[in-house]
Amino acid sequence: MANKTGMERLEELKGQIFKCIHCKACRFAYSGEPSRKGIGEYKGKQKTVLYEGMVDSCPAGIEYGWEAFWNAGKVWIARSILNGDLEFSEEVRDVIMPCITCGMCSAQCENKIPTVDIIESLRAACIEAGVPMIEKHELVNRLVKELNNPYGGKAEERFKWAKDAGLEKYINNKGAKIGYFVGCTASYRQIEVAVATAKLFEQLGINFTLIEEEVCCGSPFFRIGAVNTAQELMNKNLELFKGLDMVYFSCAGCYRTITIDYPKWMPEGEKLPFKTQHAFELIARLIQQEKIKFKPNKELKGKVVTYHDPCHTGRHFGIDFEQELIKQSKNLMFDMRKITQKIDEWFEIPRVILRKLQEDVGIVFKEMYRIKLNSMCCGAGGGVRAGYPDFSLRTASLRCDEANAIGADILTTECPFCWRNLTDANELYGHGMKVMGVLQMITEYGLLDIVASPSEQDFLTPSIRELEEEGSKKKK
Ligand code: SF4
Ligand code: SF4
Repeated sequence: MANKTGMERLEELKGQIFKCIHCKACRFAYSGEPSRKGIGEYKGKQKTVLYEGMVDSCPAGIEYGWEAFWNAGKVWIARSILNGDLEFSEEVRDVIMPCITCGMCSAQCENKIPTVDIIESLRAACIEAGVPMIEKHELVNRLVKELNNPYGGKAEERFKWAKDAGLEKYINNKGAKIGYFVGCTASYRQIEVAVATAKLFEQLGINFTLIEEEVCCGSPFFRIGAVNTAQELMNKNLELFKGLDMVYFSCAGCYRTITIDYPKWMPEGEKLPFKTQHAFELIARLIQQEKIKFKPNKELKGKVVTYHDPCHTGRHFGIDFEQELIKQSKNLMFDMRKITQKIDEWFEIPRVILRKLQEDVGIVFKEMYRIKLNSMCCGAGGGVRAGYPDFSLRTASLRCDEANAIGADILTTECPFCWRNLTDANELYGHGMKVMGVLQMITEYGLLDIVASPSEQDFLTPSIRELEEEGSKKKK
């Protein structure tokens, strides 16, 4: 069976697109958790923000300012295309491309419209209609077709980091049931993340494999509308990883793409041939089972540490749960409470690690004012870092302002792409923090303390996401 086209996806989403009443509620998001007192006005590097109540949500709207760039404008464009009132053109492309696909708009919409799906399908249909990609997107599309990664790295250098770090034995480790999908950013740019994750796996005793022929997960290409390229990459990875039981990730984008996007773009009725989860899920689970703890550290003691939720591991999964559970629900008024609870549990997982770091290591874990579903994006996704670098870095700086506003010494995250953009903005605009991955912090400061050796079954335990899916299928 053939993979789907962008226009077919847009048609599938027609019911959702026509649910939009253009109320523009998606333009605003809560800032300040209800249980906390706000800090009022904060003068950051980018602008003065009032971190209380409702503030502008959409990075694209904040940057470009006028109607079409906010989400409601883009949904209206999708509607006009489906109605035949508007045709794709370079002008349309230039409005729908500078969007980080962060999903903030979707999280705010009371009509539960999956705006990111709509925007991505709209972009795919635009490119399919023959509108040329913007130059920078054309470049990364050409690079990935030639070299299987958008950075121009050579295939033989993809796992150089593993060889240099003494982790060569895990490359094509025959017989392993567990894979580690590293992704292009951690392989060619933020190798700190790849080294930290693989070393952590080694310390825990996981018999895992790195697949030498691994190719880009396709995330940037699903986002920018180059769906043919993305699907070619998807088919290669599915073939390469199909013999494994569980695939772990350290990149939020790869995790979201393979877990959420692949099944949507695979032929009808096909399923992922392996289970997936992020490394932070495993670490949080082992903490909860009291199999691991952390060692105290003088250098980190007293440091104010905050956490940036990557859109791809946070909000995108939250919205995906919401959509799935809405489909299953017979009484949405009642079930919304369960849906909200499930989303809360999901966002708690990285916080299990940060609270344990506070308890054992002595860091001071402090939340920013916009977190979880309302978290501000780092500005890197959706093809924006490649295509619109100034907009991308200004958005990352807005997020760094939010970390500065609570006095953070260290801004942590769990995605190499967020790490890169936040690091660059932190340096460019002088925010004066340290930016780190949570797993990177654990490895680089030697914090892991194994209380009871985990078993292979611990590593093969499905994500709470899948456990709940299996549970709801059994109930049907
Ligand atoms: S996407 Fe939702 S919140 Fe935004 S304008 Fe449409 S209905 Fe309103
Ligand atoms: S996905 Fe993010 S950047 Fe794009 S329209 Fe929605 S809020 Fe704005």
